[in-house]
Amino acid sequence: MKDFKTYSSGRRNTGRKLLKIILLVVFALVAAGLYLFIFERPVINETVQPQPPSQAPNQDQQDPDRITVPLALPGQSQEESSRVSNQRTDQRISTTPHEPSNNETEQQPATISPSPPELNPAPTLTNATETISHVIAPGDTLSTIFDEMGLSATLLHQIIHSSKTAKSLTDIRPGEILRVELDQKKNLQSLILERDKVHSLHIQAADSGFSSSKLTKELEKRTAHAQGLIENSLYISAKQAGLPETTIMELAEIFGWDIDFALEIRSGDSFTVIYEEEFLDGEKIRTGPILAAEFINQGRSYRAVRYVDKTGKADYYTPDGQSMRKAFLRAPVDFRRISSRFTTERWHPVLGKKRPHRGVDYAANTGTPIKAAGDGKIIHRSRKGGYGRTVIIQHAHGYSTLYAHLSSYARQARLGSQIKQGQIIGYVGQSGLATGPHLHYEFRVNGVHRNPLTVKLPDAEPIAKKFRADFLLQTQPLVTQLDTLNRMLVADAR
Ligand SMILES: [Zn+2]
Repeated sequence: MKDFKTYSSGRRNTGRKLLKIILLVVFALVAAGLYLFIFERPVINETVQPQPPSQAPNQDQQDPDRITVPLALPGQSQEESSRVSNQRTDQRISTTPHEPSNNETEQQPATISPSPPELNPAPTLTNATETISHVIAPGDTLSTIFDEMGLSATLLHQIIHSSKTAKSLTDIRPGEILRVELDQKKNLQSLILERDKVHSLHIQAADSGFSSSKLTKELEKRTAHAQGLIENSLYISAKQAGLPETTIMELAEIFGWDIDFALEIRSGDSFTVIYEEEFLDGEKIRTGPILAAEFINQGRSYRAVRYVDKTGKADYYTPDGQSMRKAFLRAPVDFRRISSRFTTERWHPVLGKKRPHRGVDYAANTGTPIKAAGDGKIIHRSRKGGYGRTVIIQHAHGYSTLYAHLSSYARQARLGSQIKQGQIIGYVGQSGLATGPHLHYEFRVNGVHRNPLTVKLPDAEPIAKKFRADFLLQTQPLVTQLDTLNRMLVADAR
């Protein structure tokens, strides 16, 4: 864009004299003819919408010869946008001859708009181009937009089939901005699809065909931190501490292996989070990952640091390199979906005898997804007496898990299927002997029932030996920062 700007103003200067002579003559003739028209017809000025600031963050809007008019703002009809388009064409023709002036005198009636040949200056004399911007509205397709812009379907076909990158142009979404630069002959010079403030797709006319590229603006990363004491819920306290929702969920996920956020959070628990924020030109664009965090649950401290190994794989570890993850999920239902506490029906009177409840009941709405606690194979998937619809997964090393009272099974989780940890296997219900919708969950080790809330779950793999030195080097500063923040929190609480 910068290249073009210098180029065009250079040409404009050298051609200006000749241009003025020709165009002044032309203009004088036309102006006389148009005088009546202009003053007898209402000026349709209001259809030229001012450029909203969000649409052209980096456009050089000051340049008078480059008029950027949104073809159709959300909610604007096609008819309106084509009128804007016509006006823009007219403006270009008339602004070229004289210096930037008020729009009014240049509002040309739409009837003149199929440009009369005498209005067109010789193409070799100017390089005036136009940029047309279009905010994608629901229901827009590339063909309708091209049509509105006066570009041919053939051109669109050529662009889309010029490369795989260009093909992704067809995937347009409402709110994205399409900018097209045309030269004097209305030939497409370039096309930019701004996905958002950071991502864009560029198509450039080349000697033969088109070149295309995807651009991602580099974001500046800054470190932020937040901490707080929990009174009622982690969610409320973390919100008050200024953590965005996604980061709160991330925090619960990192520690969800050690702490059951539905059942084990107590008033007085605390958290400290160091996380990344990403900026573009001083404006915060998004929140990045958690870099390190500490959670103190019922007096016990849990810490996690993020480490990206040399292969680019990111994961969370304890400061001494143990994985934060376990081979099994602590709870097979998303803690956010659990509506009431675990029922401590540890002993059931059955015909005068007491009998241990062999699992955990998670009350949740019917239809809540149930996740496989660990990798394994489905060895049971049908009704099973009072359990109702039941899934049993066999895991490695003699572990198995059971999920009962389902309302339905997940289609992909068939009998005999290999299942990944976290994969949805079915949905909460109250089939079998159940008084309300809940998941009954059992955990067995070598056929023996174990309490899934207290059983020591096998860890996922620790940090690889070859990465250990690098791991400590990278994460030590974060641990030091956690120490400092922790002291501040303790001091505050006093
Ligand atoms: Zn139960």
